[in-house]
Amino acid sequence: MHEVKPFYQQHFGVPPAWAVRAPGRVELLGNHTDYNQGLVMALAVDKFIHLAGGPRRDGRIEVVSTAFPTPARFSVSAMTKEEAAPWADYVKGLLLQLQRRGVHFNGFNAAIHSTIPLGAGLSSSAALLVATALLVRKLFPYRLTETGVAAPPSPDSRGELPPLATPEKLALAKVCQAAENQFVGVNCGLLDYIASLFGKAHHAILIDCQDLRVEWTPLDGQAEVVICHSGVRHALADGEYNALRRHCEAAARALGARSLRGVEAKDLTARQGQLPEREYQCARHIVGENQRVTFGERALRAHDLAQFGQYLYQSHESSRDSFKNSCPELDLLVELARAHPGCLGARLTGGGFGGATLNLVATGQVEDFRRVIAQGYEARTGRKLESWPCRIVDGAG
Ligand code: ADP
Ligand code: MG
Repeated sequence: MHEVKPFYQQHFGVPPAWAVRAPGRVELLGNHTDYNQGLVMALAVDKFIHLAGGPRRDGRIEVVSTAFPTPARFSVSAMTKEEAAPWADYVKGLLLQLQRRGVHFNGFNAAIHSTIPLGAGLSSSAALLVATALLVRKLFPYRLTETGVAAPPSPDSRGELPPLATPEKLALAKVCQAAENQFVGVNCGLLDYIASLFGKAHHAILIDCQDLRVEWTPLDGQAEVVICHSGVRHALADGEYNALRRHCEAAARALGARSLRGVEAKDLTARQGQLPEREYQCARHIVGENQRVTFGERALRAHDLAQFGQYLYQSHESSRDSFKNSCPELDLLVELARAHPGCLGARLTGGGFGGATLNLVATGQVEDFRRVIAQGYEARTGRKLESWPCRIVDGAG
């Protein structure tokens, strides 16, 4: 927060009226389960998009970011894509969705400073959307309902608004998703926004993507989360993602289920012969991931991190062998992690085909772990490894 306020002041010449922040997130367990109506565990982590803002009177919006040199300047009545500052599509997309829901706002200035590494699997885009929505709420209070808006909340004597209630957070998550789907054109699920909004310090967020129920289980004890970024993103990733989605949906249809969530492991095994091999493999991964989230929750509630870590390894093996959304670099990172005595569990996190791994590492061994993995990774691939220890934090709002 401390860096965004001076940045705002430097650019706009006055201090900001408000500052907000939204955390990045990581998928802890439950891979590709979200669009299959399944179960997923996520964490909000201590990397943030900070946003400072203040009103202006001419109906114009100006947004600057420490990550991009060109400011975005546009008017409330004409929010279109602009080649000079494509990064601002997220801000515009979100504002358009708020407008569509009936939220009224006027011109404002905003400055962005982020500590979330871009495109490293921590979902900087989701945090930016959530933070933008929260800043607009500070400047022009609104209350979202499932379908539109209700009477806005009143600020208290210090000008603070009440925290967002659960239904408002869910409605906001849907607004963010619509912005990313419709304006930016990325076909993502709700998970990232829910994680950024519903995070709880020292807890994993458990999300049931069928009914959007959100719960928390403690993730505390003598272990920390470390993200290791492979530094690769394979060119076929987007096409592969869509293909996996189609396999999952086709498998559910062939099994007479609305989604793979409705398929039990034993039924899948019994009906293996009715599915093409690739669809069966994909279904096995998703059904297995749902089970691992359920078992993982039990392990966490019993404070059994060693057992929980085993589910992380199993999840990675299932990605590598069944779902086939891993790649040699991610497999290597998990192999190196497994060989480290401080590692309790490791797996790829997010879409796959590159990106990052999530590692659960014994407290006190984190620095040694990062050093050893980086050495091994560079020796075998010639690539420098970036890694980030993460604290689990409260969500935004
Ligand atoms: P991630 O996995 O981090 O979400 P994405 O490609 O989905 O990666 O989102 C990255 C995009 O989010 C950037 O291209 C930019 O448009 C926006 N973004 C992220 N961080 C910032 C920032 N600090 N300032 C401005 N825009 C940002
Ligand atoms: Mg993103």
